[in-house]
Amino acid sequence: MDFVSPTSLSEALAVKAERPEAVPIAGGTDVMVELNFDHRRPAVLLDLMRVPELAEWSVSDGRVRIGAAVPYSTVIAELGDSLPALAQASRTVGSPQIRNRGTIGGNLGSASPAGDTHPVLLAAGARIELASVRGTRTVDADDFYVGVKRSALEPDELITAVHLPADAGPQQFAKVGTRNAMVIAVCSFAVALHPDGTRIGAALGSAGPTPRRAVAAQTFLAGELADTGLWESRAPMRDSVRRRFGELVAEAAQPIDDVRGSAAYRRHALSVLARRTLGWAWQEYQGGVRTCA
Ligand SMILES: Cc1cc2nc3c(=O)[nH]c(=O)nc-3n(C[C@H](O)[C@H](O)[C@H](O)COP(=O)(O)OP(=O)(O)OC[C@H]3O[C@@H](n4cnc5c(N)ncnc54)[C@H](O)[C@@H]3O)c2cc1C
Repeated sequence: MDFVSPTSLSEALAVKAERPEAVPIAGGTDVMVELNFDHRRPAVLLDLMRVPELAEWSVSDGRVRIGAAVPYSTVIAELGDSLPALAQASRTVGSPQIRNRGTIGGNLGSASPAGDTHPVLLAAGARIELASVRGTRTVDADDFYVGVKRSALEPDELITAVHLPADAGPQQFAKVGTRNAMVIAVCSFAVALHPDGTRIGAALGSAGPTPRRAVAAQTFLAGELADTGLWESRAPMRDSVRRRFGELVAEAAQPIDDVRGSAAYRRHALSVLARRTLGWAWQEYQGGVRTCA
């Protein structure tokens, strides 16, 4: 097995163009498991951890750009104020060791329906930056996940960054696992009240072939907030609204029965997560106080 370790993005893209079968490795927390269990035996590993362009985050024009090889520990330590739900999701990943090594780009590269960043990226309206020697393009998170562990990434492309609005309104992420840490989500959910006061983002994970938006729930809540003047009044939200929102989120799921939970349990848990996280986000919108899951 060849191990190629470029020190610039242009070098990394040139390797991927010449050898599209090369498997990128960032933190290695997914790749090394696959190698150790002999699930794949690539001819080439393309190490991305010495590419400086992938290891940085920055803010410009109202957007945060997070390099694909930025680890969860950095998101937690440095981006919690501007990207609260992404930091919440990052805090639930694995253990400190996994959070030090594991990256957002790696989560996207695996595109597992259970990956913890995906509901947040969908709800927050993220764009994924992809690059090759042919150029750079960005795709909406909505268009990135195309099937079970499949994404819109072309064989000669690398994920270079994710872009998110820097002025996030109230956001929440919550996850159900079979224990409190080191656990793959049984189901997960993120909600984002966009600061322009008109849009709702709601998305779920580990309850369908891909992470997905709960479109009907978003539409229902946006309509309810507009019709009742709640965006302006910031009055308490009726429990019936939060319950209906939860029901619509559960209806958006397409879960399966597996070792981690039954489809029925996942639907029920999602309705509870959605109701609770919406309540926390709304409290924050009312009082400007951030409530953590
Ligand atoms: C003990 C343990 C616990 C875990 N717990 C969680 C958890 O709670 N939640 C969760 O979501 N995940 C969890 N994971 C999975 C894993 O940590 C995450 O998916 C992590 O984000 C992967 O990042 P990485 O940098 O280690 O990716 P890698 O293993 O390096 O790569 C993962 C995949 O992405 C591809 N890839 C990486 N970077 C790029 C890029 N820039 N461009 C294109 N393709 C790329 C690789 O080729 C590979 O297919 C856990 C893993 C372990 C071993």
